[in-house]
Amino acid sequence: MTSVLGQGSTFRIAIPLGKAHLDPDRIGKPPEDGSTSMTPAAFVEEALRWLPDEPQRDGQAPDRPDSGTLPDRPAAEAERLAEAVQLTQAAQLKQKPRVLWADDNADMRAYVRRLLGDRFDVAAVPDGKAALEAARARKPDLVLSDVMMPRLDGFGLLRELRADPQLCEIPVLLLSARAGEDARIEGMEAGADDYLIKPFSARELLALVESHLKMSRLRREANEAIRRGERNAGLLASIVQSSDDAIVSKNLEGIIMSWNQGAERLFGYTADEVIGKSINMLIPPDRIEEEPGILARLRRGERVDHFETIRVRKDGSRLNISLTISPVKDAQGLVVGASKIARDITERVRQEQALQIANAALHQANADLEQFANSASHDLQEPLRILRIYSELLGETFGGQLGQTGDEFIRHIAEGATRMDNLLRGVRTYMQISAADDPPLEETEAGEALNRTLLNLQAAIEESGASITVAALPRVRMHEFQMEQLFLNLISNAIRYRNGVPRIKIAAGFEDRNWLFSVQDNGIGIEPRFKEHIFGVFKRLHSSEYAGTGMGLAICQRIIERAGGRIWVESEPGNGSTFYFTIPAAEARSRAD
Ligand code: ADP
Repeated sequence: MTSVLGQGSTFRIAIPLGKAHLDPDRIGKPPEDGSTSMTPAAFVEEALRWLPDEPQRDGQAPDRPDSGTLPDRPAAEAERLAEAVQLTQAAQLKQKPRVLWADDNADMRAYVRRLLGDRFDVAAVPDGKAALEAARARKPDLVLSDVMMPRLDGFGLLRELRADPQLCEIPVLLLSARAGEDARIEGMEAGADDYLIKPFSARELLALVESHLKMSRLRREANEAIRRGERNAGLLASIVQSSDDAIVSKNLEGIIMSWNQGAERLFGYTADEVIGKSINMLIPPDRIEEEPGILARLRRGERVDHFETIRVRKDGSRLNISLTISPVKDAQGLVVGASKIARDITERVRQEQALQIANAALHQANADLEQFANSASHDLQEPLRILRIYSELLGETFGGQLGQTGDEFIRHIAEGATRMDNLLRGVRTYMQISAADDPPLEETEAGEALNRTLLNLQAAIEESGASITVAALPRVRMHEFQMEQLFLNLISNAIRYRNGVPRIKIAAGFEDRNWLFSVQDNGIGIEPRFKEHIFGVFKRLHSSEYAGTGMGLAICQRIIERAGGRIWVESEPGNGSTFYFTIPAAEARSRAD
């Protein structure tokens, strides 16, 4: 090629003359005389079968006087006509198997077409080259070819067909007048599916074509099934490969048979490093006793689900994994191995452990705090008692002598002592609840607990003029003193945080396996943002105007928590509050246990 940018290119092609430079094998041989190996008798016999109205078509020489004559002209005309008709029919009947017939003998072509035309869509061509072109233009189901033909002979055609990936599977039957075992062997060696020696009987040809078509169809179906299987297997393999989880298979001896990319990532070994080796290489020494158990379960056909354990990576680091192992069965249903999916749960286990540690620390801190509060509340009782006794003594002994201010100081001391006493009592109650078994086996009559509480609160009720409405109350699984504490704190709050004359309603109902209690008042109400805050220890909202310890709701919360229920408030400032708490019903609890 010579070329100038912007001006164009010239491509020159040199083709040598003559054939001296060519590979002798590739030079077409001049056609041999096809008749040389054919005995005249066989030729005559074959020729006789070409006759259109031949009563006997099985290759036997017909027993008639004009035996040995060739078809006359009108017969030949009729034959060509028939040939044309058959061609059209064949084109119409596309479902017929397509047979490509290559023979340089026009009469032979017509004969075979007539012979096969009923059952097959026959395309007849005069030589190997034409056959190859026809085959490439439209793929036949079977090729019948004469061996000796001009341009490209039968062997050449066979070679070309076999070399073409599109056509290599087509069955090829060679026909030749060259009799003898050698010729047949040569044909078969060249890759022909069969070799037929002329003259052959019509029945023989038909049977052969039929059987090869059938074989080729079966082969094609089998190949297609294999390809489908391979496609499915390929799809499955790519799913397995691309999975994030490690997917590994092993045999019943624990030898690794397959290893996906997920496994490479998780364990750090490549497939080459582990396939054929024992799965034990992944198991740390302290877990090695797990494997025989797993293999035994698999042999019994059992599955191992979400088995959490530890494995080791190539770098020796330990890995928390969750294993799901399923037995793999062969076509007979025999367990031959196992497939397992391993998921890395290291992070989850680490978080769980961190949570456990944090929980344990929290429990310890709580226990320490409770221990401190417990001993403090007890230890403070004694100095508090002294404070009270001496403030009383002070009042009794020097009452009136200290003047108004002195009396007021003594009153402050006494009030402080009472307040502190209340606080300590609250703390002790809180501790008592924490120490009680939960929940008790015996049930408490809530109504009776309420009556005892109301009796205790009688002075406050009378003083405030409170009206208290009580609906029927159930029996609940709770310690009596706890039930009383609940009512005591909630009702005394309803009286204390009042807004005029307190109207208090106490009710209970059954809801979703729980007893739901409510204590409703018409008091000052609570701002929504403090709805949770008020249940904390020493948490108070109205400390300047109302006396209190900030322990009441904390005690209630603790009681309900221990009973497995829930406590909350619904309220609007100025519009009263309703405190709700649930206690799991006894039946529901025993069912859950
Ligand atoms: P206290 O001894 O202060 O009453 P509690 O734990 O019983 O302690 O209550 C905490 C705070 O919740 C109270 O200080 C009060 O502000 C508020 N509170 C409790 N019950 C009611 C109620 N029925 N109506 C309005 N406010 C309430």
